[in-house]
Amino acid sequence: MARYHIETYGCTSNRGESRQIERRLRDAGHHRVEGPGEADVAILNTCTVVEKTERNMLRRAEELGEETADLIVTGCMALAQGEQFRDAEVDADVIHWDEVPEAVTNGECPTTTPDAEPVLDGVIGILPIARGCMSDCSYCITKQATGKIDSPPVSENVEKARALVHAGAKEIRITGQDTGVYGWDTGERKLHELLDRICDIEGDFRVRVGMANPKGVHGIREELAEVFAENEKLYNFIHAPVQSGSDDVLGDMRRQHQVSEYVEIVETFDEYLDYWTLSTDFIVGFPTEEDEDHAQSMALLRETRPEKINVTRFSKRPGTDAAEMKGLGGTKKKERSKEMSELKMDVVAEAYDAMVGETHEVLVVEEGTGDSVKCYDEAYRQVIVQNADDHGVEVGDFVDVEITGHSTVYAFGEPV
Ligand code: SF4
Repeated sequence: MARYHIETYGCTSNRGESRQIERRLRDAGHHRVEGPGEADVAILNTCTVVEKTERNMLRRAEELGEETADLIVTGCMALAQGEQFRDAEVDADVIHWDEVPEAVTNGECPTTTPDAEPVLDGVIGILPIARGCMSDCSYCITKQATGKIDSPPVSENVEKARALVHAGAKEIRITGQDTGVYGWDTGERKLHELLDRICDIEGDFRVRVGMANPKGVHGIREELAEVFAENEKLYNFIHAPVQSGSDDVLGDMRRQHQVSEYVEIVETFDEYLDYWTLSTDFIVGFPTEEDEDHAQSMALLRETRPEKINVTRFSKRPGTDAAEMKGLGGTKKKERSKEMSELKMDVVAEAYDAMVGETHEVLVVEEGTGDSVKCYDEAYRQVIVQNADDHGVEVGDFVDVEITGHSTVYAFGEPV
């Protein structure tokens, strides 16, 4: 769990984005501190209204880069003129608002809500199905707070899901440190059974499965892919963070999976589903990552072509074993992260390009900026519908849209 500092500049819309970022960081167990000196990571949410503002943003990014271990630059200037930060050699991840929470985690799994109880937020119902995990990753501090997996019975989680649907949830987000190992403590691997039973609940809603490490998913990949193929209520989406394309580095990270297991998961889902989203994470610049290891990560990204990719530059979290390892020297981390981020942009753009002209059914989950709404399609790809009022589109609606274009992290859709 990270300590973060956040600074926001510009209009109320930008402040709204910061509030959303903070809410997601808080839900994932991260803590806000006042002042970059106290923080593991600083977030600069930028504005680009006039040239003077741009100069101020660049200067502030340089200052924050000096004061904190890690800097994330997001907001309007990051989207419109991100290259200016790179040209000025600001040592930062320059990313979209939506990518900030994952970038803060440094590869650690999210923590569930403190009491692991469901929460209804608008039409989104958050359902923590278990606490803890089965792993002991060498870079993780979350584990110390959450301990071993503790899974309530399937029937208990189904009842919680039913209560969320009755309370108005249209999207149920299944969360946990590692949803793929749900039930391992009771001797059964039963995420697929839980999902099947939640989909049996009467009502018009969608279910999104949260982060599941490759080891747990690999053991039930056939059963899981089958449940996805049979249930329209399930978004065809898995988030399985591979973290590296090198088995040596995975070993040093004490991840429990091997690269081949991750690849087998992808192959199995490809067999069962025509249209689905693979989301994964890479940690770049782990202390023992050699050039060859990095090349293997790049090759894995090219081979498996995930539609959603989080690239995190490794940073040391005090109290973890990885923090004791001798870090990479010079600018290696930065260069590797730049190289991987560029490849990521190409891979993701290819996925969105293929959607343009297609019609998808989307669920409207929340208000966006201005008169837009945020929606998700069948494979949990984000689609923005603009001028929502003119189209009579409201949060909670299911709408057919034609995909008209895309940005780097979402598509644009026009109701048909
Ligand atoms: S799976 Fe690894 S990173 Fe995730 S909570 Fe467990 S020890 Fe931490």
